Amino acid sequence: MRPTTVLLIAPAFPEKTFWNNKAVCRVAGARHTAIPLGLLTVAALLPPDWQCRLIDLNCRELTDADIDAADLVMTGGMNIQRPATLAVVARVQRRGKPVVVGGPDATSEPDVYEGADFLVEGEAEGILGALVAAWEAGQRSGRFAAEKFKADVTTSPVPRYDLLRRADYLYYAVQFSRGCPFTCEFCDIIELFGRRPRVKTPEQVLRELDTLYESGFRGHVDFVDDNFIGNKKAVKAFLPHLVAWQRARGYPLVFSTEASINLADDDELLALMREAGFFVVFVGIESPDARTLAAMGKKQNTRRALSDSIARIHAAGLFVIAGFIVGFDSEEAAVGRYMVEAIEEAAIPVAMVGLLAALPNTQLTARLRQEGRLFPVEWQLRMLTAGEGGDQCTLGLNFTTRRPRREVLADYLEVVERLYTPSAFFGRIERASREYDCFSPPRPLDPAAPAGFLGIGAGDWAELRRLLWHFLRERPGALRHVVGLLYRCARTNPGALRHVATQAAFYLHLGPFSRFVSSAIRRQISDIDGGRWQAPVPEPAWSHPAA
Ligand code: SF4
Repeated sequence: MRPTTVLLIAPAFPEKTFWNNKAVCRVAGARHTAIPLGLLTVAALLPPDWQCRLIDLNCRELTDADIDAADLVMTGGMNIQRPATLAVVARVQRRGKPVVVGGPDATSEPDVYEGADFLVEGEAEGILGALVAAWEAGQRSGRFAAEKFKADVTTSPVPRYDLLRRADYLYYAVQFSRGCPFTCEFCDIIELFGRRPRVKTPEQVLRELDTLYESGFRGHVDFVDDNFIGNKKAVKAFLPHLVAWQRARGYPLVFSTEASINLADDDELLALMREAGFFVVFVGIESPDARTLAAMGKKQNTRRALSDSIARIHAAGLFVIAGFIVGFDSEEAAVGRYMVEAIEEAAIPVAMVGLLAALPNTQLTARLRQEGRLFPVEWQLRMLTAGEGGDQCTLGLNFTTRRPRREVLADYLEVVERLYTPSAFFGRIERASREYDCFSPPRPLDPAAPAGFLGIGAGDWAELRRLLWHFLRERPGALRHVVGLLYRCARTNPGALRHVATQAAFYLHLGPFSRFVSSAIRRQISDIDGGRWQAPVPEPAWSHPAA
């Protein structure tokens, strides 16, 4: 029998989103930020004689000939990719080919994808074998659901990195763990992967890194774990292996990840991460208000001075990208002002501030539905497909807010408009740059490159020149801020130049993006003021089994 030919399609992210950092990609000569790790893992789980091809719609066009050449198409992604995923399903079916949909959004809200030929709910390791067996038995449609939180990640194969075009991406990715022990009400991670983090073995992760290294890859790898330190004992057992791996090869890689703020409380963990080559961590801070944090179930963020915690992470040589949310029930008026003050005080240059969005299958969604406040799913889909698309920065609040909607939007607008003026943004980078202890980090990137001026390699200087050229061309008004910042950093803390340049590059994206968000929110406010906003009729109150 001829082996099955599979086309894996990564759906596009909306053009206008915080995460779609196209401007930074341009500086680095890439087309997209992150690789589609889920689809690469799926490809590795398929029978070895099946022939796989990947098209990432964030980087390449899809042609009818691509679809026609495949026996089976597989796709799926996150909630924000929903319209693009549904468009892929429709297009593939128009060509008469069967399509499989899986991934986080299909798992959270499978009924949205009921038109797909095959639907896979849950983690691929636990269920893909059943799909393959059904396909090989001649079945051409079906619905498969993995048992929740049961996939044994220690059996997960090395993702098929060979399917990627390396130059397309800003960074590569690996995964160490799935799941998080915390209970944040708005979070879908704990519903998708459970509250008991499951981890790969150190040997397994190092095998993945070996694969990248042997393919010639050098540079930035993201640990895509939603909370890298969810199982501290396991991560502390893993990191010494990673340190040894990096040392033995002259530090060919640098790492980023996401972690909860309690990372700041653990000096041993911070030291290990620094020694392993981590340079940035995304931390979900969400709100400056302790009452709101407690109400959302994020107790790990309370009982701490935010600025002290961030300073401790900075002192360990990592810079912080932080997530904040506006729109919680317990917020008080002027939350926008308090949020800006907290971000400024903690010197967090890159802050992802979004509107609260009730994601499918979360405790928040269950509660809002029970309270009769949740907007119907069609409303969200209509918003996602309207205009240029967007993310939770423009399309959140898919429910009846406790405070008047206008007030919440005005608070949010204040944050967006104050945080991303050039003087505020570069001022925060400058203050943070004094806190990084980067004098003796492991030498990252190409170990063969000469250290060069200020301990920075020739390749890095070329990147710096490219960065300045992009500012000159795209944001000339901000150029003097960048030059001044780099000059002062070179004099006072030259070891932090790489951090400073990387964060400055974000402005190429965040400057224009914040203006896009600001005008979208101003339009929403003006619709309310002009009586043009019509609140959708919420879903009927319904008691969700998880509530
Ligand atoms: S700490 Fe992060 S990953 Fe964990 S439950 Fe909260 S939001 Fe989700």
